[in-house]
Amino acid sequence: MLSSVRRARRESNVLVLPSPWVVLAVCISLAVSAPAPAAQAGLPGSLEAVEGIFDADEAWDVLEAIDPYFRMRGNDGYLRSVQKIFLHLKDAGFSEGSALEQLDTLEIRDFGPVRPAWTPLRASFSVTTPAVGKLHGFDDEAGLERTFVAVNSFPTGEAGIDAPLMRYERSKPPESYAGTIVVGDEPAETLFRRSVQEGGALGCISSYLGDYNRPDENRDAIRYCQIPYDEERRGFALNVSPNKYQVLDRLVDTGSVWAHVHIDARFTDARSRTLIARIGGTQPSAGTIAFVAHLDEPGANDNGSGVATMAAMASGYLRAIREGRVERPRRSLTFLWGTEFECSREWLASRPGPVDMALVIDMVGEDLQLTRAEPLVERIPDPGAIWDRRPLDVHSEWGRGDVRESDLHGTFVNDYVMAAMNIRRDATDWPVRSNPYEGGSDHESFLARGIPSVLLWHFTDIYYHTNLDRLDKVDRQEMVHVAVTTLALAHHFGMAGAERAQEVLDIVLEAARVRLAVEAENARAFLSPEVVRENPAQFDRVMQRERRIILAWSRWYREALLSVVNFEPDTLSPERLPLEERIDAALTELRQVEHEILEQL
Ligand SMILES: [Zn+2]
Repeated sequence: MLSSVRRARRESNVLVLPSPWVVLAVCISLAVSAPAPAAQAGLPGSLEAVEGIFDADEAWDVLEAIDPYFRMRGNDGYLRSVQKIFLHLKDAGFSEGSALEQLDTLEIRDFGPVRPAWTPLRASFSVTTPAVGKLHGFDDEAGLERTFVAVNSFPTGEAGIDAPLMRYERSKPPESYAGTIVVGDEPAETLFRRSVQEGGALGCISSYLGDYNRPDENRDAIRYCQIPYDEERRGFALNVSPNKYQVLDRLVDTGSVWAHVHIDARFTDARSRTLIARIGGTQPSAGTIAFVAHLDEPGANDNGSGVATMAAMASGYLRAIREGRVERPRRSLTFLWGTEFECSREWLASRPGPVDMALVIDMVGEDLQLTRAEPLVERIPDPGAIWDRRPLDVHSEWGRGDVRESDLHGTFVNDYVMAAMNIRRDATDWPVRSNPYEGGSDHESFLARGIPSVLLWHFTDIYYHTNLDRLDKVDRQEMVHVAVTTLALAHHFGMAGAERAQEVLDIVLEAARVRLAVEAENARAFLSPEVVRENPAQFDRVMQRERRIILAWSRWYREALLSVVNFEPDTLSPERLPLEERIDAALTELRQVEHEILEQL
């Protein structure tokens, strides 16, 4: 299925070939990617240099160790996972502390407010009248059905709770649910608010699954979700699989149906523990490259895979430096493991010094066949996040983010990251592609501070946020692809220098040419139908929109070209002036391309 998606994408690229700009761009791209003796200093060389550094067995060892834990902010399994990674990195040569004179450091920090941290221990849910028996249950937090109890559900006590089931209907007054357990197909969060918090129900049971979970075929998937901590109501919310809901659905309207619910769970008080590992750079004035993998959430792919991949990236890279297999980079590398959003936001608020780029590693191990996911790189907001058009802007099923034109700031990072990905794709047939900005992970924290940050992820994963996101859905080869490309970027950007800056400038300029050519082709396609051409008012509107899109891309890419000066961390470098001159020449060329496209519309 995935290879056909990829073929279709390539074919649609071919369809726009008649444009002279694309022909020109392709010729230049061939010239740029032709093997050259200097390639070793470039991105292809960086991919080669880091190839053997990442040890997939090491990543797997971390993943296997943390998979049994139901990891939530600050809970037992979360803290044990922090400990596991801490020891793993210590073994690799990181030393405890955070002093700058220590090169390679490892530090645990507790961020944010104290909040209740929830750990599930055991639970079961049965229909007792009629005597249907147990529908879902688990005996410890590693159990296969562990997500059927929503996070923050209160323990019921040893005796459990026996109560009648009642169907949820939006039009019923909440008070009518008091003393019952409510069953419905809305998300557990909604059922909990309406029936338990507003209506006094004891708990609720939800059959909801996202469309991307394919509930029609994924019949045993049980959603993972979280309800608000409510000490006053002390209620619970349960999720049931489509198969088990079928049983409930038939029964619930027949009259007197009683259920037994037993939940044993523990609340502890915790802050957001964050593990910070740093590989020191050789140039103290340079900023750092940040990597983030969120440690909360219990899925093996979301985000055990990111946590484990990053742990083996950090340990492998440090060992390679110490053994002299790669040079120590000029920029430092900072790896963060913590609670999603909070760890990156709080770390940035703690004034860690300049951050030059952030790579967020979240859901990177999906077995492509089993989960039906595609390896994706989510771009920093660019005009494609507003005017998404094929073939270059294809959203995931996650959907569009809220982006305005005023949010767009051109940067070299999108095309730079994709250049590394494309080298890997071409060498291994890995079907990676980019998607326009959507949001929803730690890259938001960096972007909010103007720091370029992309998300490395896999979607649509049909097991996303369900109990079935376990080890058997992880393909270690996917972790290798992500680790090698990400480390190559870190190595290349970490070393920087004039030659690499020129390489990045070429990458961005080439991408700009391709983009403007594709949008020119799109514009012609929108302007060409007879209904448009024969209606002057309509033609005018379409023309205005198309010009606006081309101008937006042209502006974005001019900023992206300008941003290449930031590639080199040494602002006093004698190479800076010639680089600026080459950037000026690229800007002139881009303006010329824009001018010609607008003329020809
Ligand atoms: Zn995630």
